[in-house]
Amino acid sequence: MFDEIKKLDNTYIANTYNRFNVAFKSGKGATLYDFNDKKYIDFSTGIGVNAFGVSDDEWVKAITEQANRLSHMSNLYYTLPQAQLAHMLCAKTGMKKVFFANSGAEANEGAIKTARKYSHDKYNEARSEIITLVNSFHGRTITTLKATGQDVFHKNFYPFTEGFTYAKANDIEDVKAHINENTCAIMMELVQGEGGVLPLDKEFVKNVEKIAKEKDLILIIDEVQTGNGRTGYLYAYQGFGINPDIVTTAKGIGGGLPLGAILFNEKTEKVLGFGDHATTFGGNPIVTAGALSIIERLNDEFLDAVKLKGQYIMEYCKGIKNVESVSGMGMMIGIKCNKPARDIVSKCLENGLICLTAKDKIRFLPPLNISTTELEEGLKIFKKVVEE
Ligand SMILES: *Cc1c(COP(=O)(O)O)cnc(C)c1O
Repeated sequence: MFDEIKKLDNTYIANTYNRFNVAFKSGKGATLYDFNDKKYIDFSTGIGVNAFGVSDDEWVKAITEQANRLSHMSNLYYTLPQAQLAHMLCAKTGMKKVFFANSGAEANEGAIKTARKYSHDKYNEARSEIITLVNSFHGRTITTLKATGQDVFHKNFYPFTEGFTYAKANDIEDVKAHINENTCAIMMELVQGEGGVLPLDKEFVKNVEKIAKEKDLILIIDEVQTGNGRTGYLYAYQGFGINPDIVTTAKGIGGGLPLGAILFNEKTEKVLGFGDHATTFGGNPIVTAGALSIIERLNDEFLDAVKLKGQYIMEYCKGIKNVESVSGMGMMIGIKCNKPARDIVSKCLENGLICLTAKDKIRFLPPLNISTTELEEGLKIFKKVVEE
């Protein structure tokens, strides 16, 4: 079966993915099976998407019940799960309003539009520049590629959207040096994910918030990867003690279905008006019904368990031979070894552990509710591979 899938894929799927040599057939939570019925422990969650693992019972119930009731209607009409999810997100964060999109890049596009419109309405059209951080990742659309502070993404697809400039992470003087009369926003991840699982310094983040307030710059926090319990907080900014003007998220919020969200505070909630932004699928009833089943379970007790599990994983990995450093926050973890990350990830896969890379690191994004048994099993495989 696998050979057939591979042949079809290689023949008909565009060549954009350098896939690992496996196709998964089924699974539950953190345990997956391939088409040869080989078992795997999953520390990747579809890149931070399956917050409660694959095919989680509560989530499956929520989406199937909604699919049987009402599968899709357009945003021209009110729908129950979307309204409930927006309410839940605002109640748990103190943000004021939500716009639902389909992905992280789209959520960031909407945030960028909002920041620019705020500035155009209040100041002038030239005040449209956005500062992002070197080594950031914000998406794959033409605009979010340019927002991404990595030169490798700024080729082939010219012309890119203008108006982005990149400051060094954890260097407040460099952020200040990038501000001019045309700056309208600062956008950043609090733990740079694709950039190598690098948490920002708390003091730097606080200082960025302070400068943004002073200069009336919209502070956009990209929580596409860090959000929805991943870091041991519902949103990582809550752990940094700041109040962003806009928070974007996606990945884990949908529990496995495509959903992005833009959260607005009191300063930005009214910037976009009728007709300024829209989407056909965004906040679809099935997707938001699934998201409700995810977000409602992310209470303080659950988030404390995420923090503890994250600490346990980090300590365990620090004790492994050939590990050079461990970074991260909650259950978003990066591990640098003295061997190439992709080789280790391939070896882990052969040995029944699914994990990711982030630049030169191995990255773990396990299901937030992974059992102790599965966690131990996965870590043992990792240790064996890295130490051999
Ligand atoms: C994954 C990611 C994105 C892009 O999300 P998509 O859903 O793939 O468009 C944007 N920002 C961050 C921080 C991400 O990790």
